[in-house]
Amino acid sequence: MNKFNYTDFTSHLLAWYDGRSLVLPWRNCNDPYKIYLSEVMLQQTQVKTVLPYYKKWVNKYPTVQSVANANQEQILKQWEGLGYYGRARNFHKSCQIIAMQFNGDIPALPDQFSKLPGVGPYISAAVMSIAFHHPLPAVDTNAIRVAARLKMVESSSPADSKVIHRYLSDNIAIKRPGDFNQAIMDLGREICKSDNPICALCPVSKFCKAFVNNFVDKYPVKIKPAKKPHYNIAAGIIWNKGQILISKRRENGLLGGLWEFPGGKIEKDENAQTCIIREVKEELGVLVQPTSFLKQIKHAYTHFSITMDAYHCDYLQGTPQAVGCDNWKWIAPEEIRLLPFPKANHKLFDKIIAEEGVC
Ligand code: SF4
Repeated sequence: MNKFNYTDFTSHLLAWYDGRSLVLPWRNCNDPYKIYLSEVMLQQTQVKTVLPYYKKWVNKYPTVQSVANANQEQILKQWEGLGYYGRARNFHKSCQIIAMQFNGDIPALPDQFSKLPGVGPYISAAVMSIAFHHPLPAVDTNAIRVAARLKMVESSSPADSKVIHRYLSDNIAIKRPGDFNQAIMDLGREICKSDNPICALCPVSKFCKAFVNNFVDKYPVKIKPAKKPHYNIAAGIIWNKGQILISKRRENGLLGGLWEFPGGKIEKDENAQTCIIREVKEELGVLVQPTSFLKQIKHAYTHFSITMDAYHCDYLQGTPQAVGCDNWKWIAPEEIRLLPFPKANHKLFDKIIAEEGVC
């Protein structure tokens, strides 16, 4: 133990962390709002992907109050392309609660903060330790992998999770818990990687049981990832008097709250056109007729991929109703760029605008 009562492991880890020159806009920052925002954006998303979104976001929404004042559509538009849209919806709701109940200040107590929408144990520990110095280990997949190798535990059972949590709790730097958590995050991301960890550069290799015993490739036990499903989708660009009919996806589903061109999965014994007729009837209660093929696009999301056939359609009859969606509206073609849409739909925008008037 040293003068801070840190374990040798912790001292080595922090010395490495202090000697690095990594510059991230949310580091060395005392604003709990920005720390909270960064942790939400970084969930399941790489630093290099988050950086431009973070900068753009902070420019437009510099405070909790500015997020609380925005509507959900503006929030989703700003988040567009970052994926996992539930994060944005929850962050928006949280900021509204913080503005109303905490005068716009991020609650400094873990009990209060962890009750906010979308705040799970990881986000809570990360924000509370970095912004308010609570000694709580932030246990995400990176931390689990690092600790599993350090302790040589498989990490797949609840008992393993307890061992990992206890190990990190026992070693967290009481005076610098945020730095400790960020050091573990950095170590996992840059050195103790999932494949081919760079043990020769590891600042804590001498404390690592897997390394010392030459079992690094055995820990944590690898679970074979499930094969990504692929879906064949059809979507209709439904025209009436120069306007396009769009629908809003259910808030709690995949890509929730985003607008889209109505359509869905092509079922057995259907082709793209009959699928569009059925889906539009089910979603919006109107009758349409596909007239001409627009474009086929392929897109890979994180957990699935799609092939989408898009058709221009004539609107025939019926008043749109939000039967299988949250909302609908007729818009001018140029407005598609102003509203939040899934990334796959973006691949149709140029062609839709180019073919406006032809349909
Ligand atoms: S020695 Fe290798 S396996 Fe062990 S913590 Fe360091 S990088 Fe990870």
